[in-house]
Amino acid sequence: MIILADINRLFRSDEVETTALRSIDLQIEEGEFVAIMGPSGCGKSTLLNTLGMIDRPTSGRYLFRDQEVTDLPEAALARMRRDNLGFVFQSFNLIDELTIAENVELGLVYRRWAGKDRRARVEAALDRVGVAHRARHYPHQLSGGQQQRAAIARAIVGQPSLILADEPTGNLDSENGEQVMEILKSLNREGATIVMVTHSPAHADIAKRVVNMLDGRIIVSARRAA
Ligand code: ADP
Ligand code: MG
Repeated sequence: MIILADINRLFRSDEVETTALRSIDLQIEEGEFVAIMGPSGCGKSTLLNTLGMIDRPTSGRYLFRDQEVTDLPEAALARMRRDNLGFVFQSFNLIDELTIAENVELGLVYRRWAGKDRRARVEAALDRVGVAHRARHYPHQLSGGQQQRAAIARAIVGQPSLILADEPTGNLDSENGEQVMEILKSLNREGATIVMVTHSPAHADIAKRVVNMLDGRIIVSARRAA
């Protein structure tokens, strides 16, 4: 599904240069569940954002389903993201002024579906993660665990083939973290490819492969015994 070849990412400001990714080679097959681990600042989020076509590498190649991504213009990247990707973040990133259902509907933005289809999809996605009964509430009226589940609904409402999750359980207590992991696990079982950054060895264990990073490099990529 994905081939990253010799990806480098250099951040430059007036004073400092930071190399966030160094010679990254990574292949991800359809249906995989990959965990990315490593100390803070080692490049995990940059790698995830690169996979998510949010961040452009300084050099290297990125192939998504045999299509070259690296040089696509922004509009084509936006289409690729819309048609293929779903994002989940540590801090949920729901919009406070919108209801849960409206937040989830944002996952369908730019899609030309009729209002009725949109509502059915939003409802199905909320139902899938167990927060349908909170559809008309606002984010602050939900617990952290419910907010993250709503954020997952937003990520999956467009039925993406690749779900990218950056420390999705980082702001949750262990019980809510488990619920989120259960949802990700079942989405993977149903065919979604998942790449998740995590600091939790237990949650990384749920993935079928763990990629360990240090200083912008991949140091180990190990498949778990079945
Ligand atoms: P992690 O997610 O593993 O904590 P990041 O990918 O966020 O690490 O960051 C990797 C390195 O790149 C860090 O040194 C960070 O400060 C730097 N970095 C990340 N994003 C930017 C940016 N937009 N501008 C400048 N430096 C950045
Ligand atoms: Mg990070």
